[in-house]
Amino acid sequence: MEVEYLRQGVPLADYQLTKADHRRQEEAVEAHEWVQRHLAKAPPWSEERWEQMRGLLGSPSPAREYQRWRLRLYCGHIVEAARPRTAPRPDEGMCNNEACSQCGLDPSVIVAFEPLGSLSDPPPKERQQRPGRSPHKPRVDRRSRAELAAENAALRAELEALRHQT
Ligand SMILES: [Zn+2]
Repeated sequence: MEVEYLRQGVPLADYQLTKADHRRQEEAVEAHEWVQRHLAKAPPWSEERWEQMRGLLGSPSPAREYQRWRLRLYCGHIVEAARPRTAPRPDEGMCNNEACSQCGLDPSVIVAFEPLGSLSDPPPKERQQRPGRSPHKPRVDRRSRAELAAENAALRAELEALRHQT
């Protein structure tokens, strides 16, 4: 089933923060601090426990399972992030903030966003650079198969010739 990806607050560069954004940022900071306080108190995990957790999580999902998003964060920076491709928006639940890679603000809540494409797609620029090469692919395949057949026949003929020589 195709997911319809939402957008919010576009164009991202012109977005103005709202009262709700300030409130969400405060909440995210509080939640973050709460988690940090509890992590600081918890005993460190043993190597076995990490190993167990890695086993539970399984291997990472392939790139095609992710959707790329362009996000505007509370700090004003615009960053890219990936989310599971089944999510119609990138700011649901625990994913409503990012650590900003540009100014280091952590957490910085997502205030606006737009979908970019699948993580497994080549970046848009790359796609534009080589126009119209794929439509001929089936013909190329058929030709190479014909070439292989010809090569095969030539090799058989050569083998026959060698056998008769000895
Ligand atoms: Zn930032």
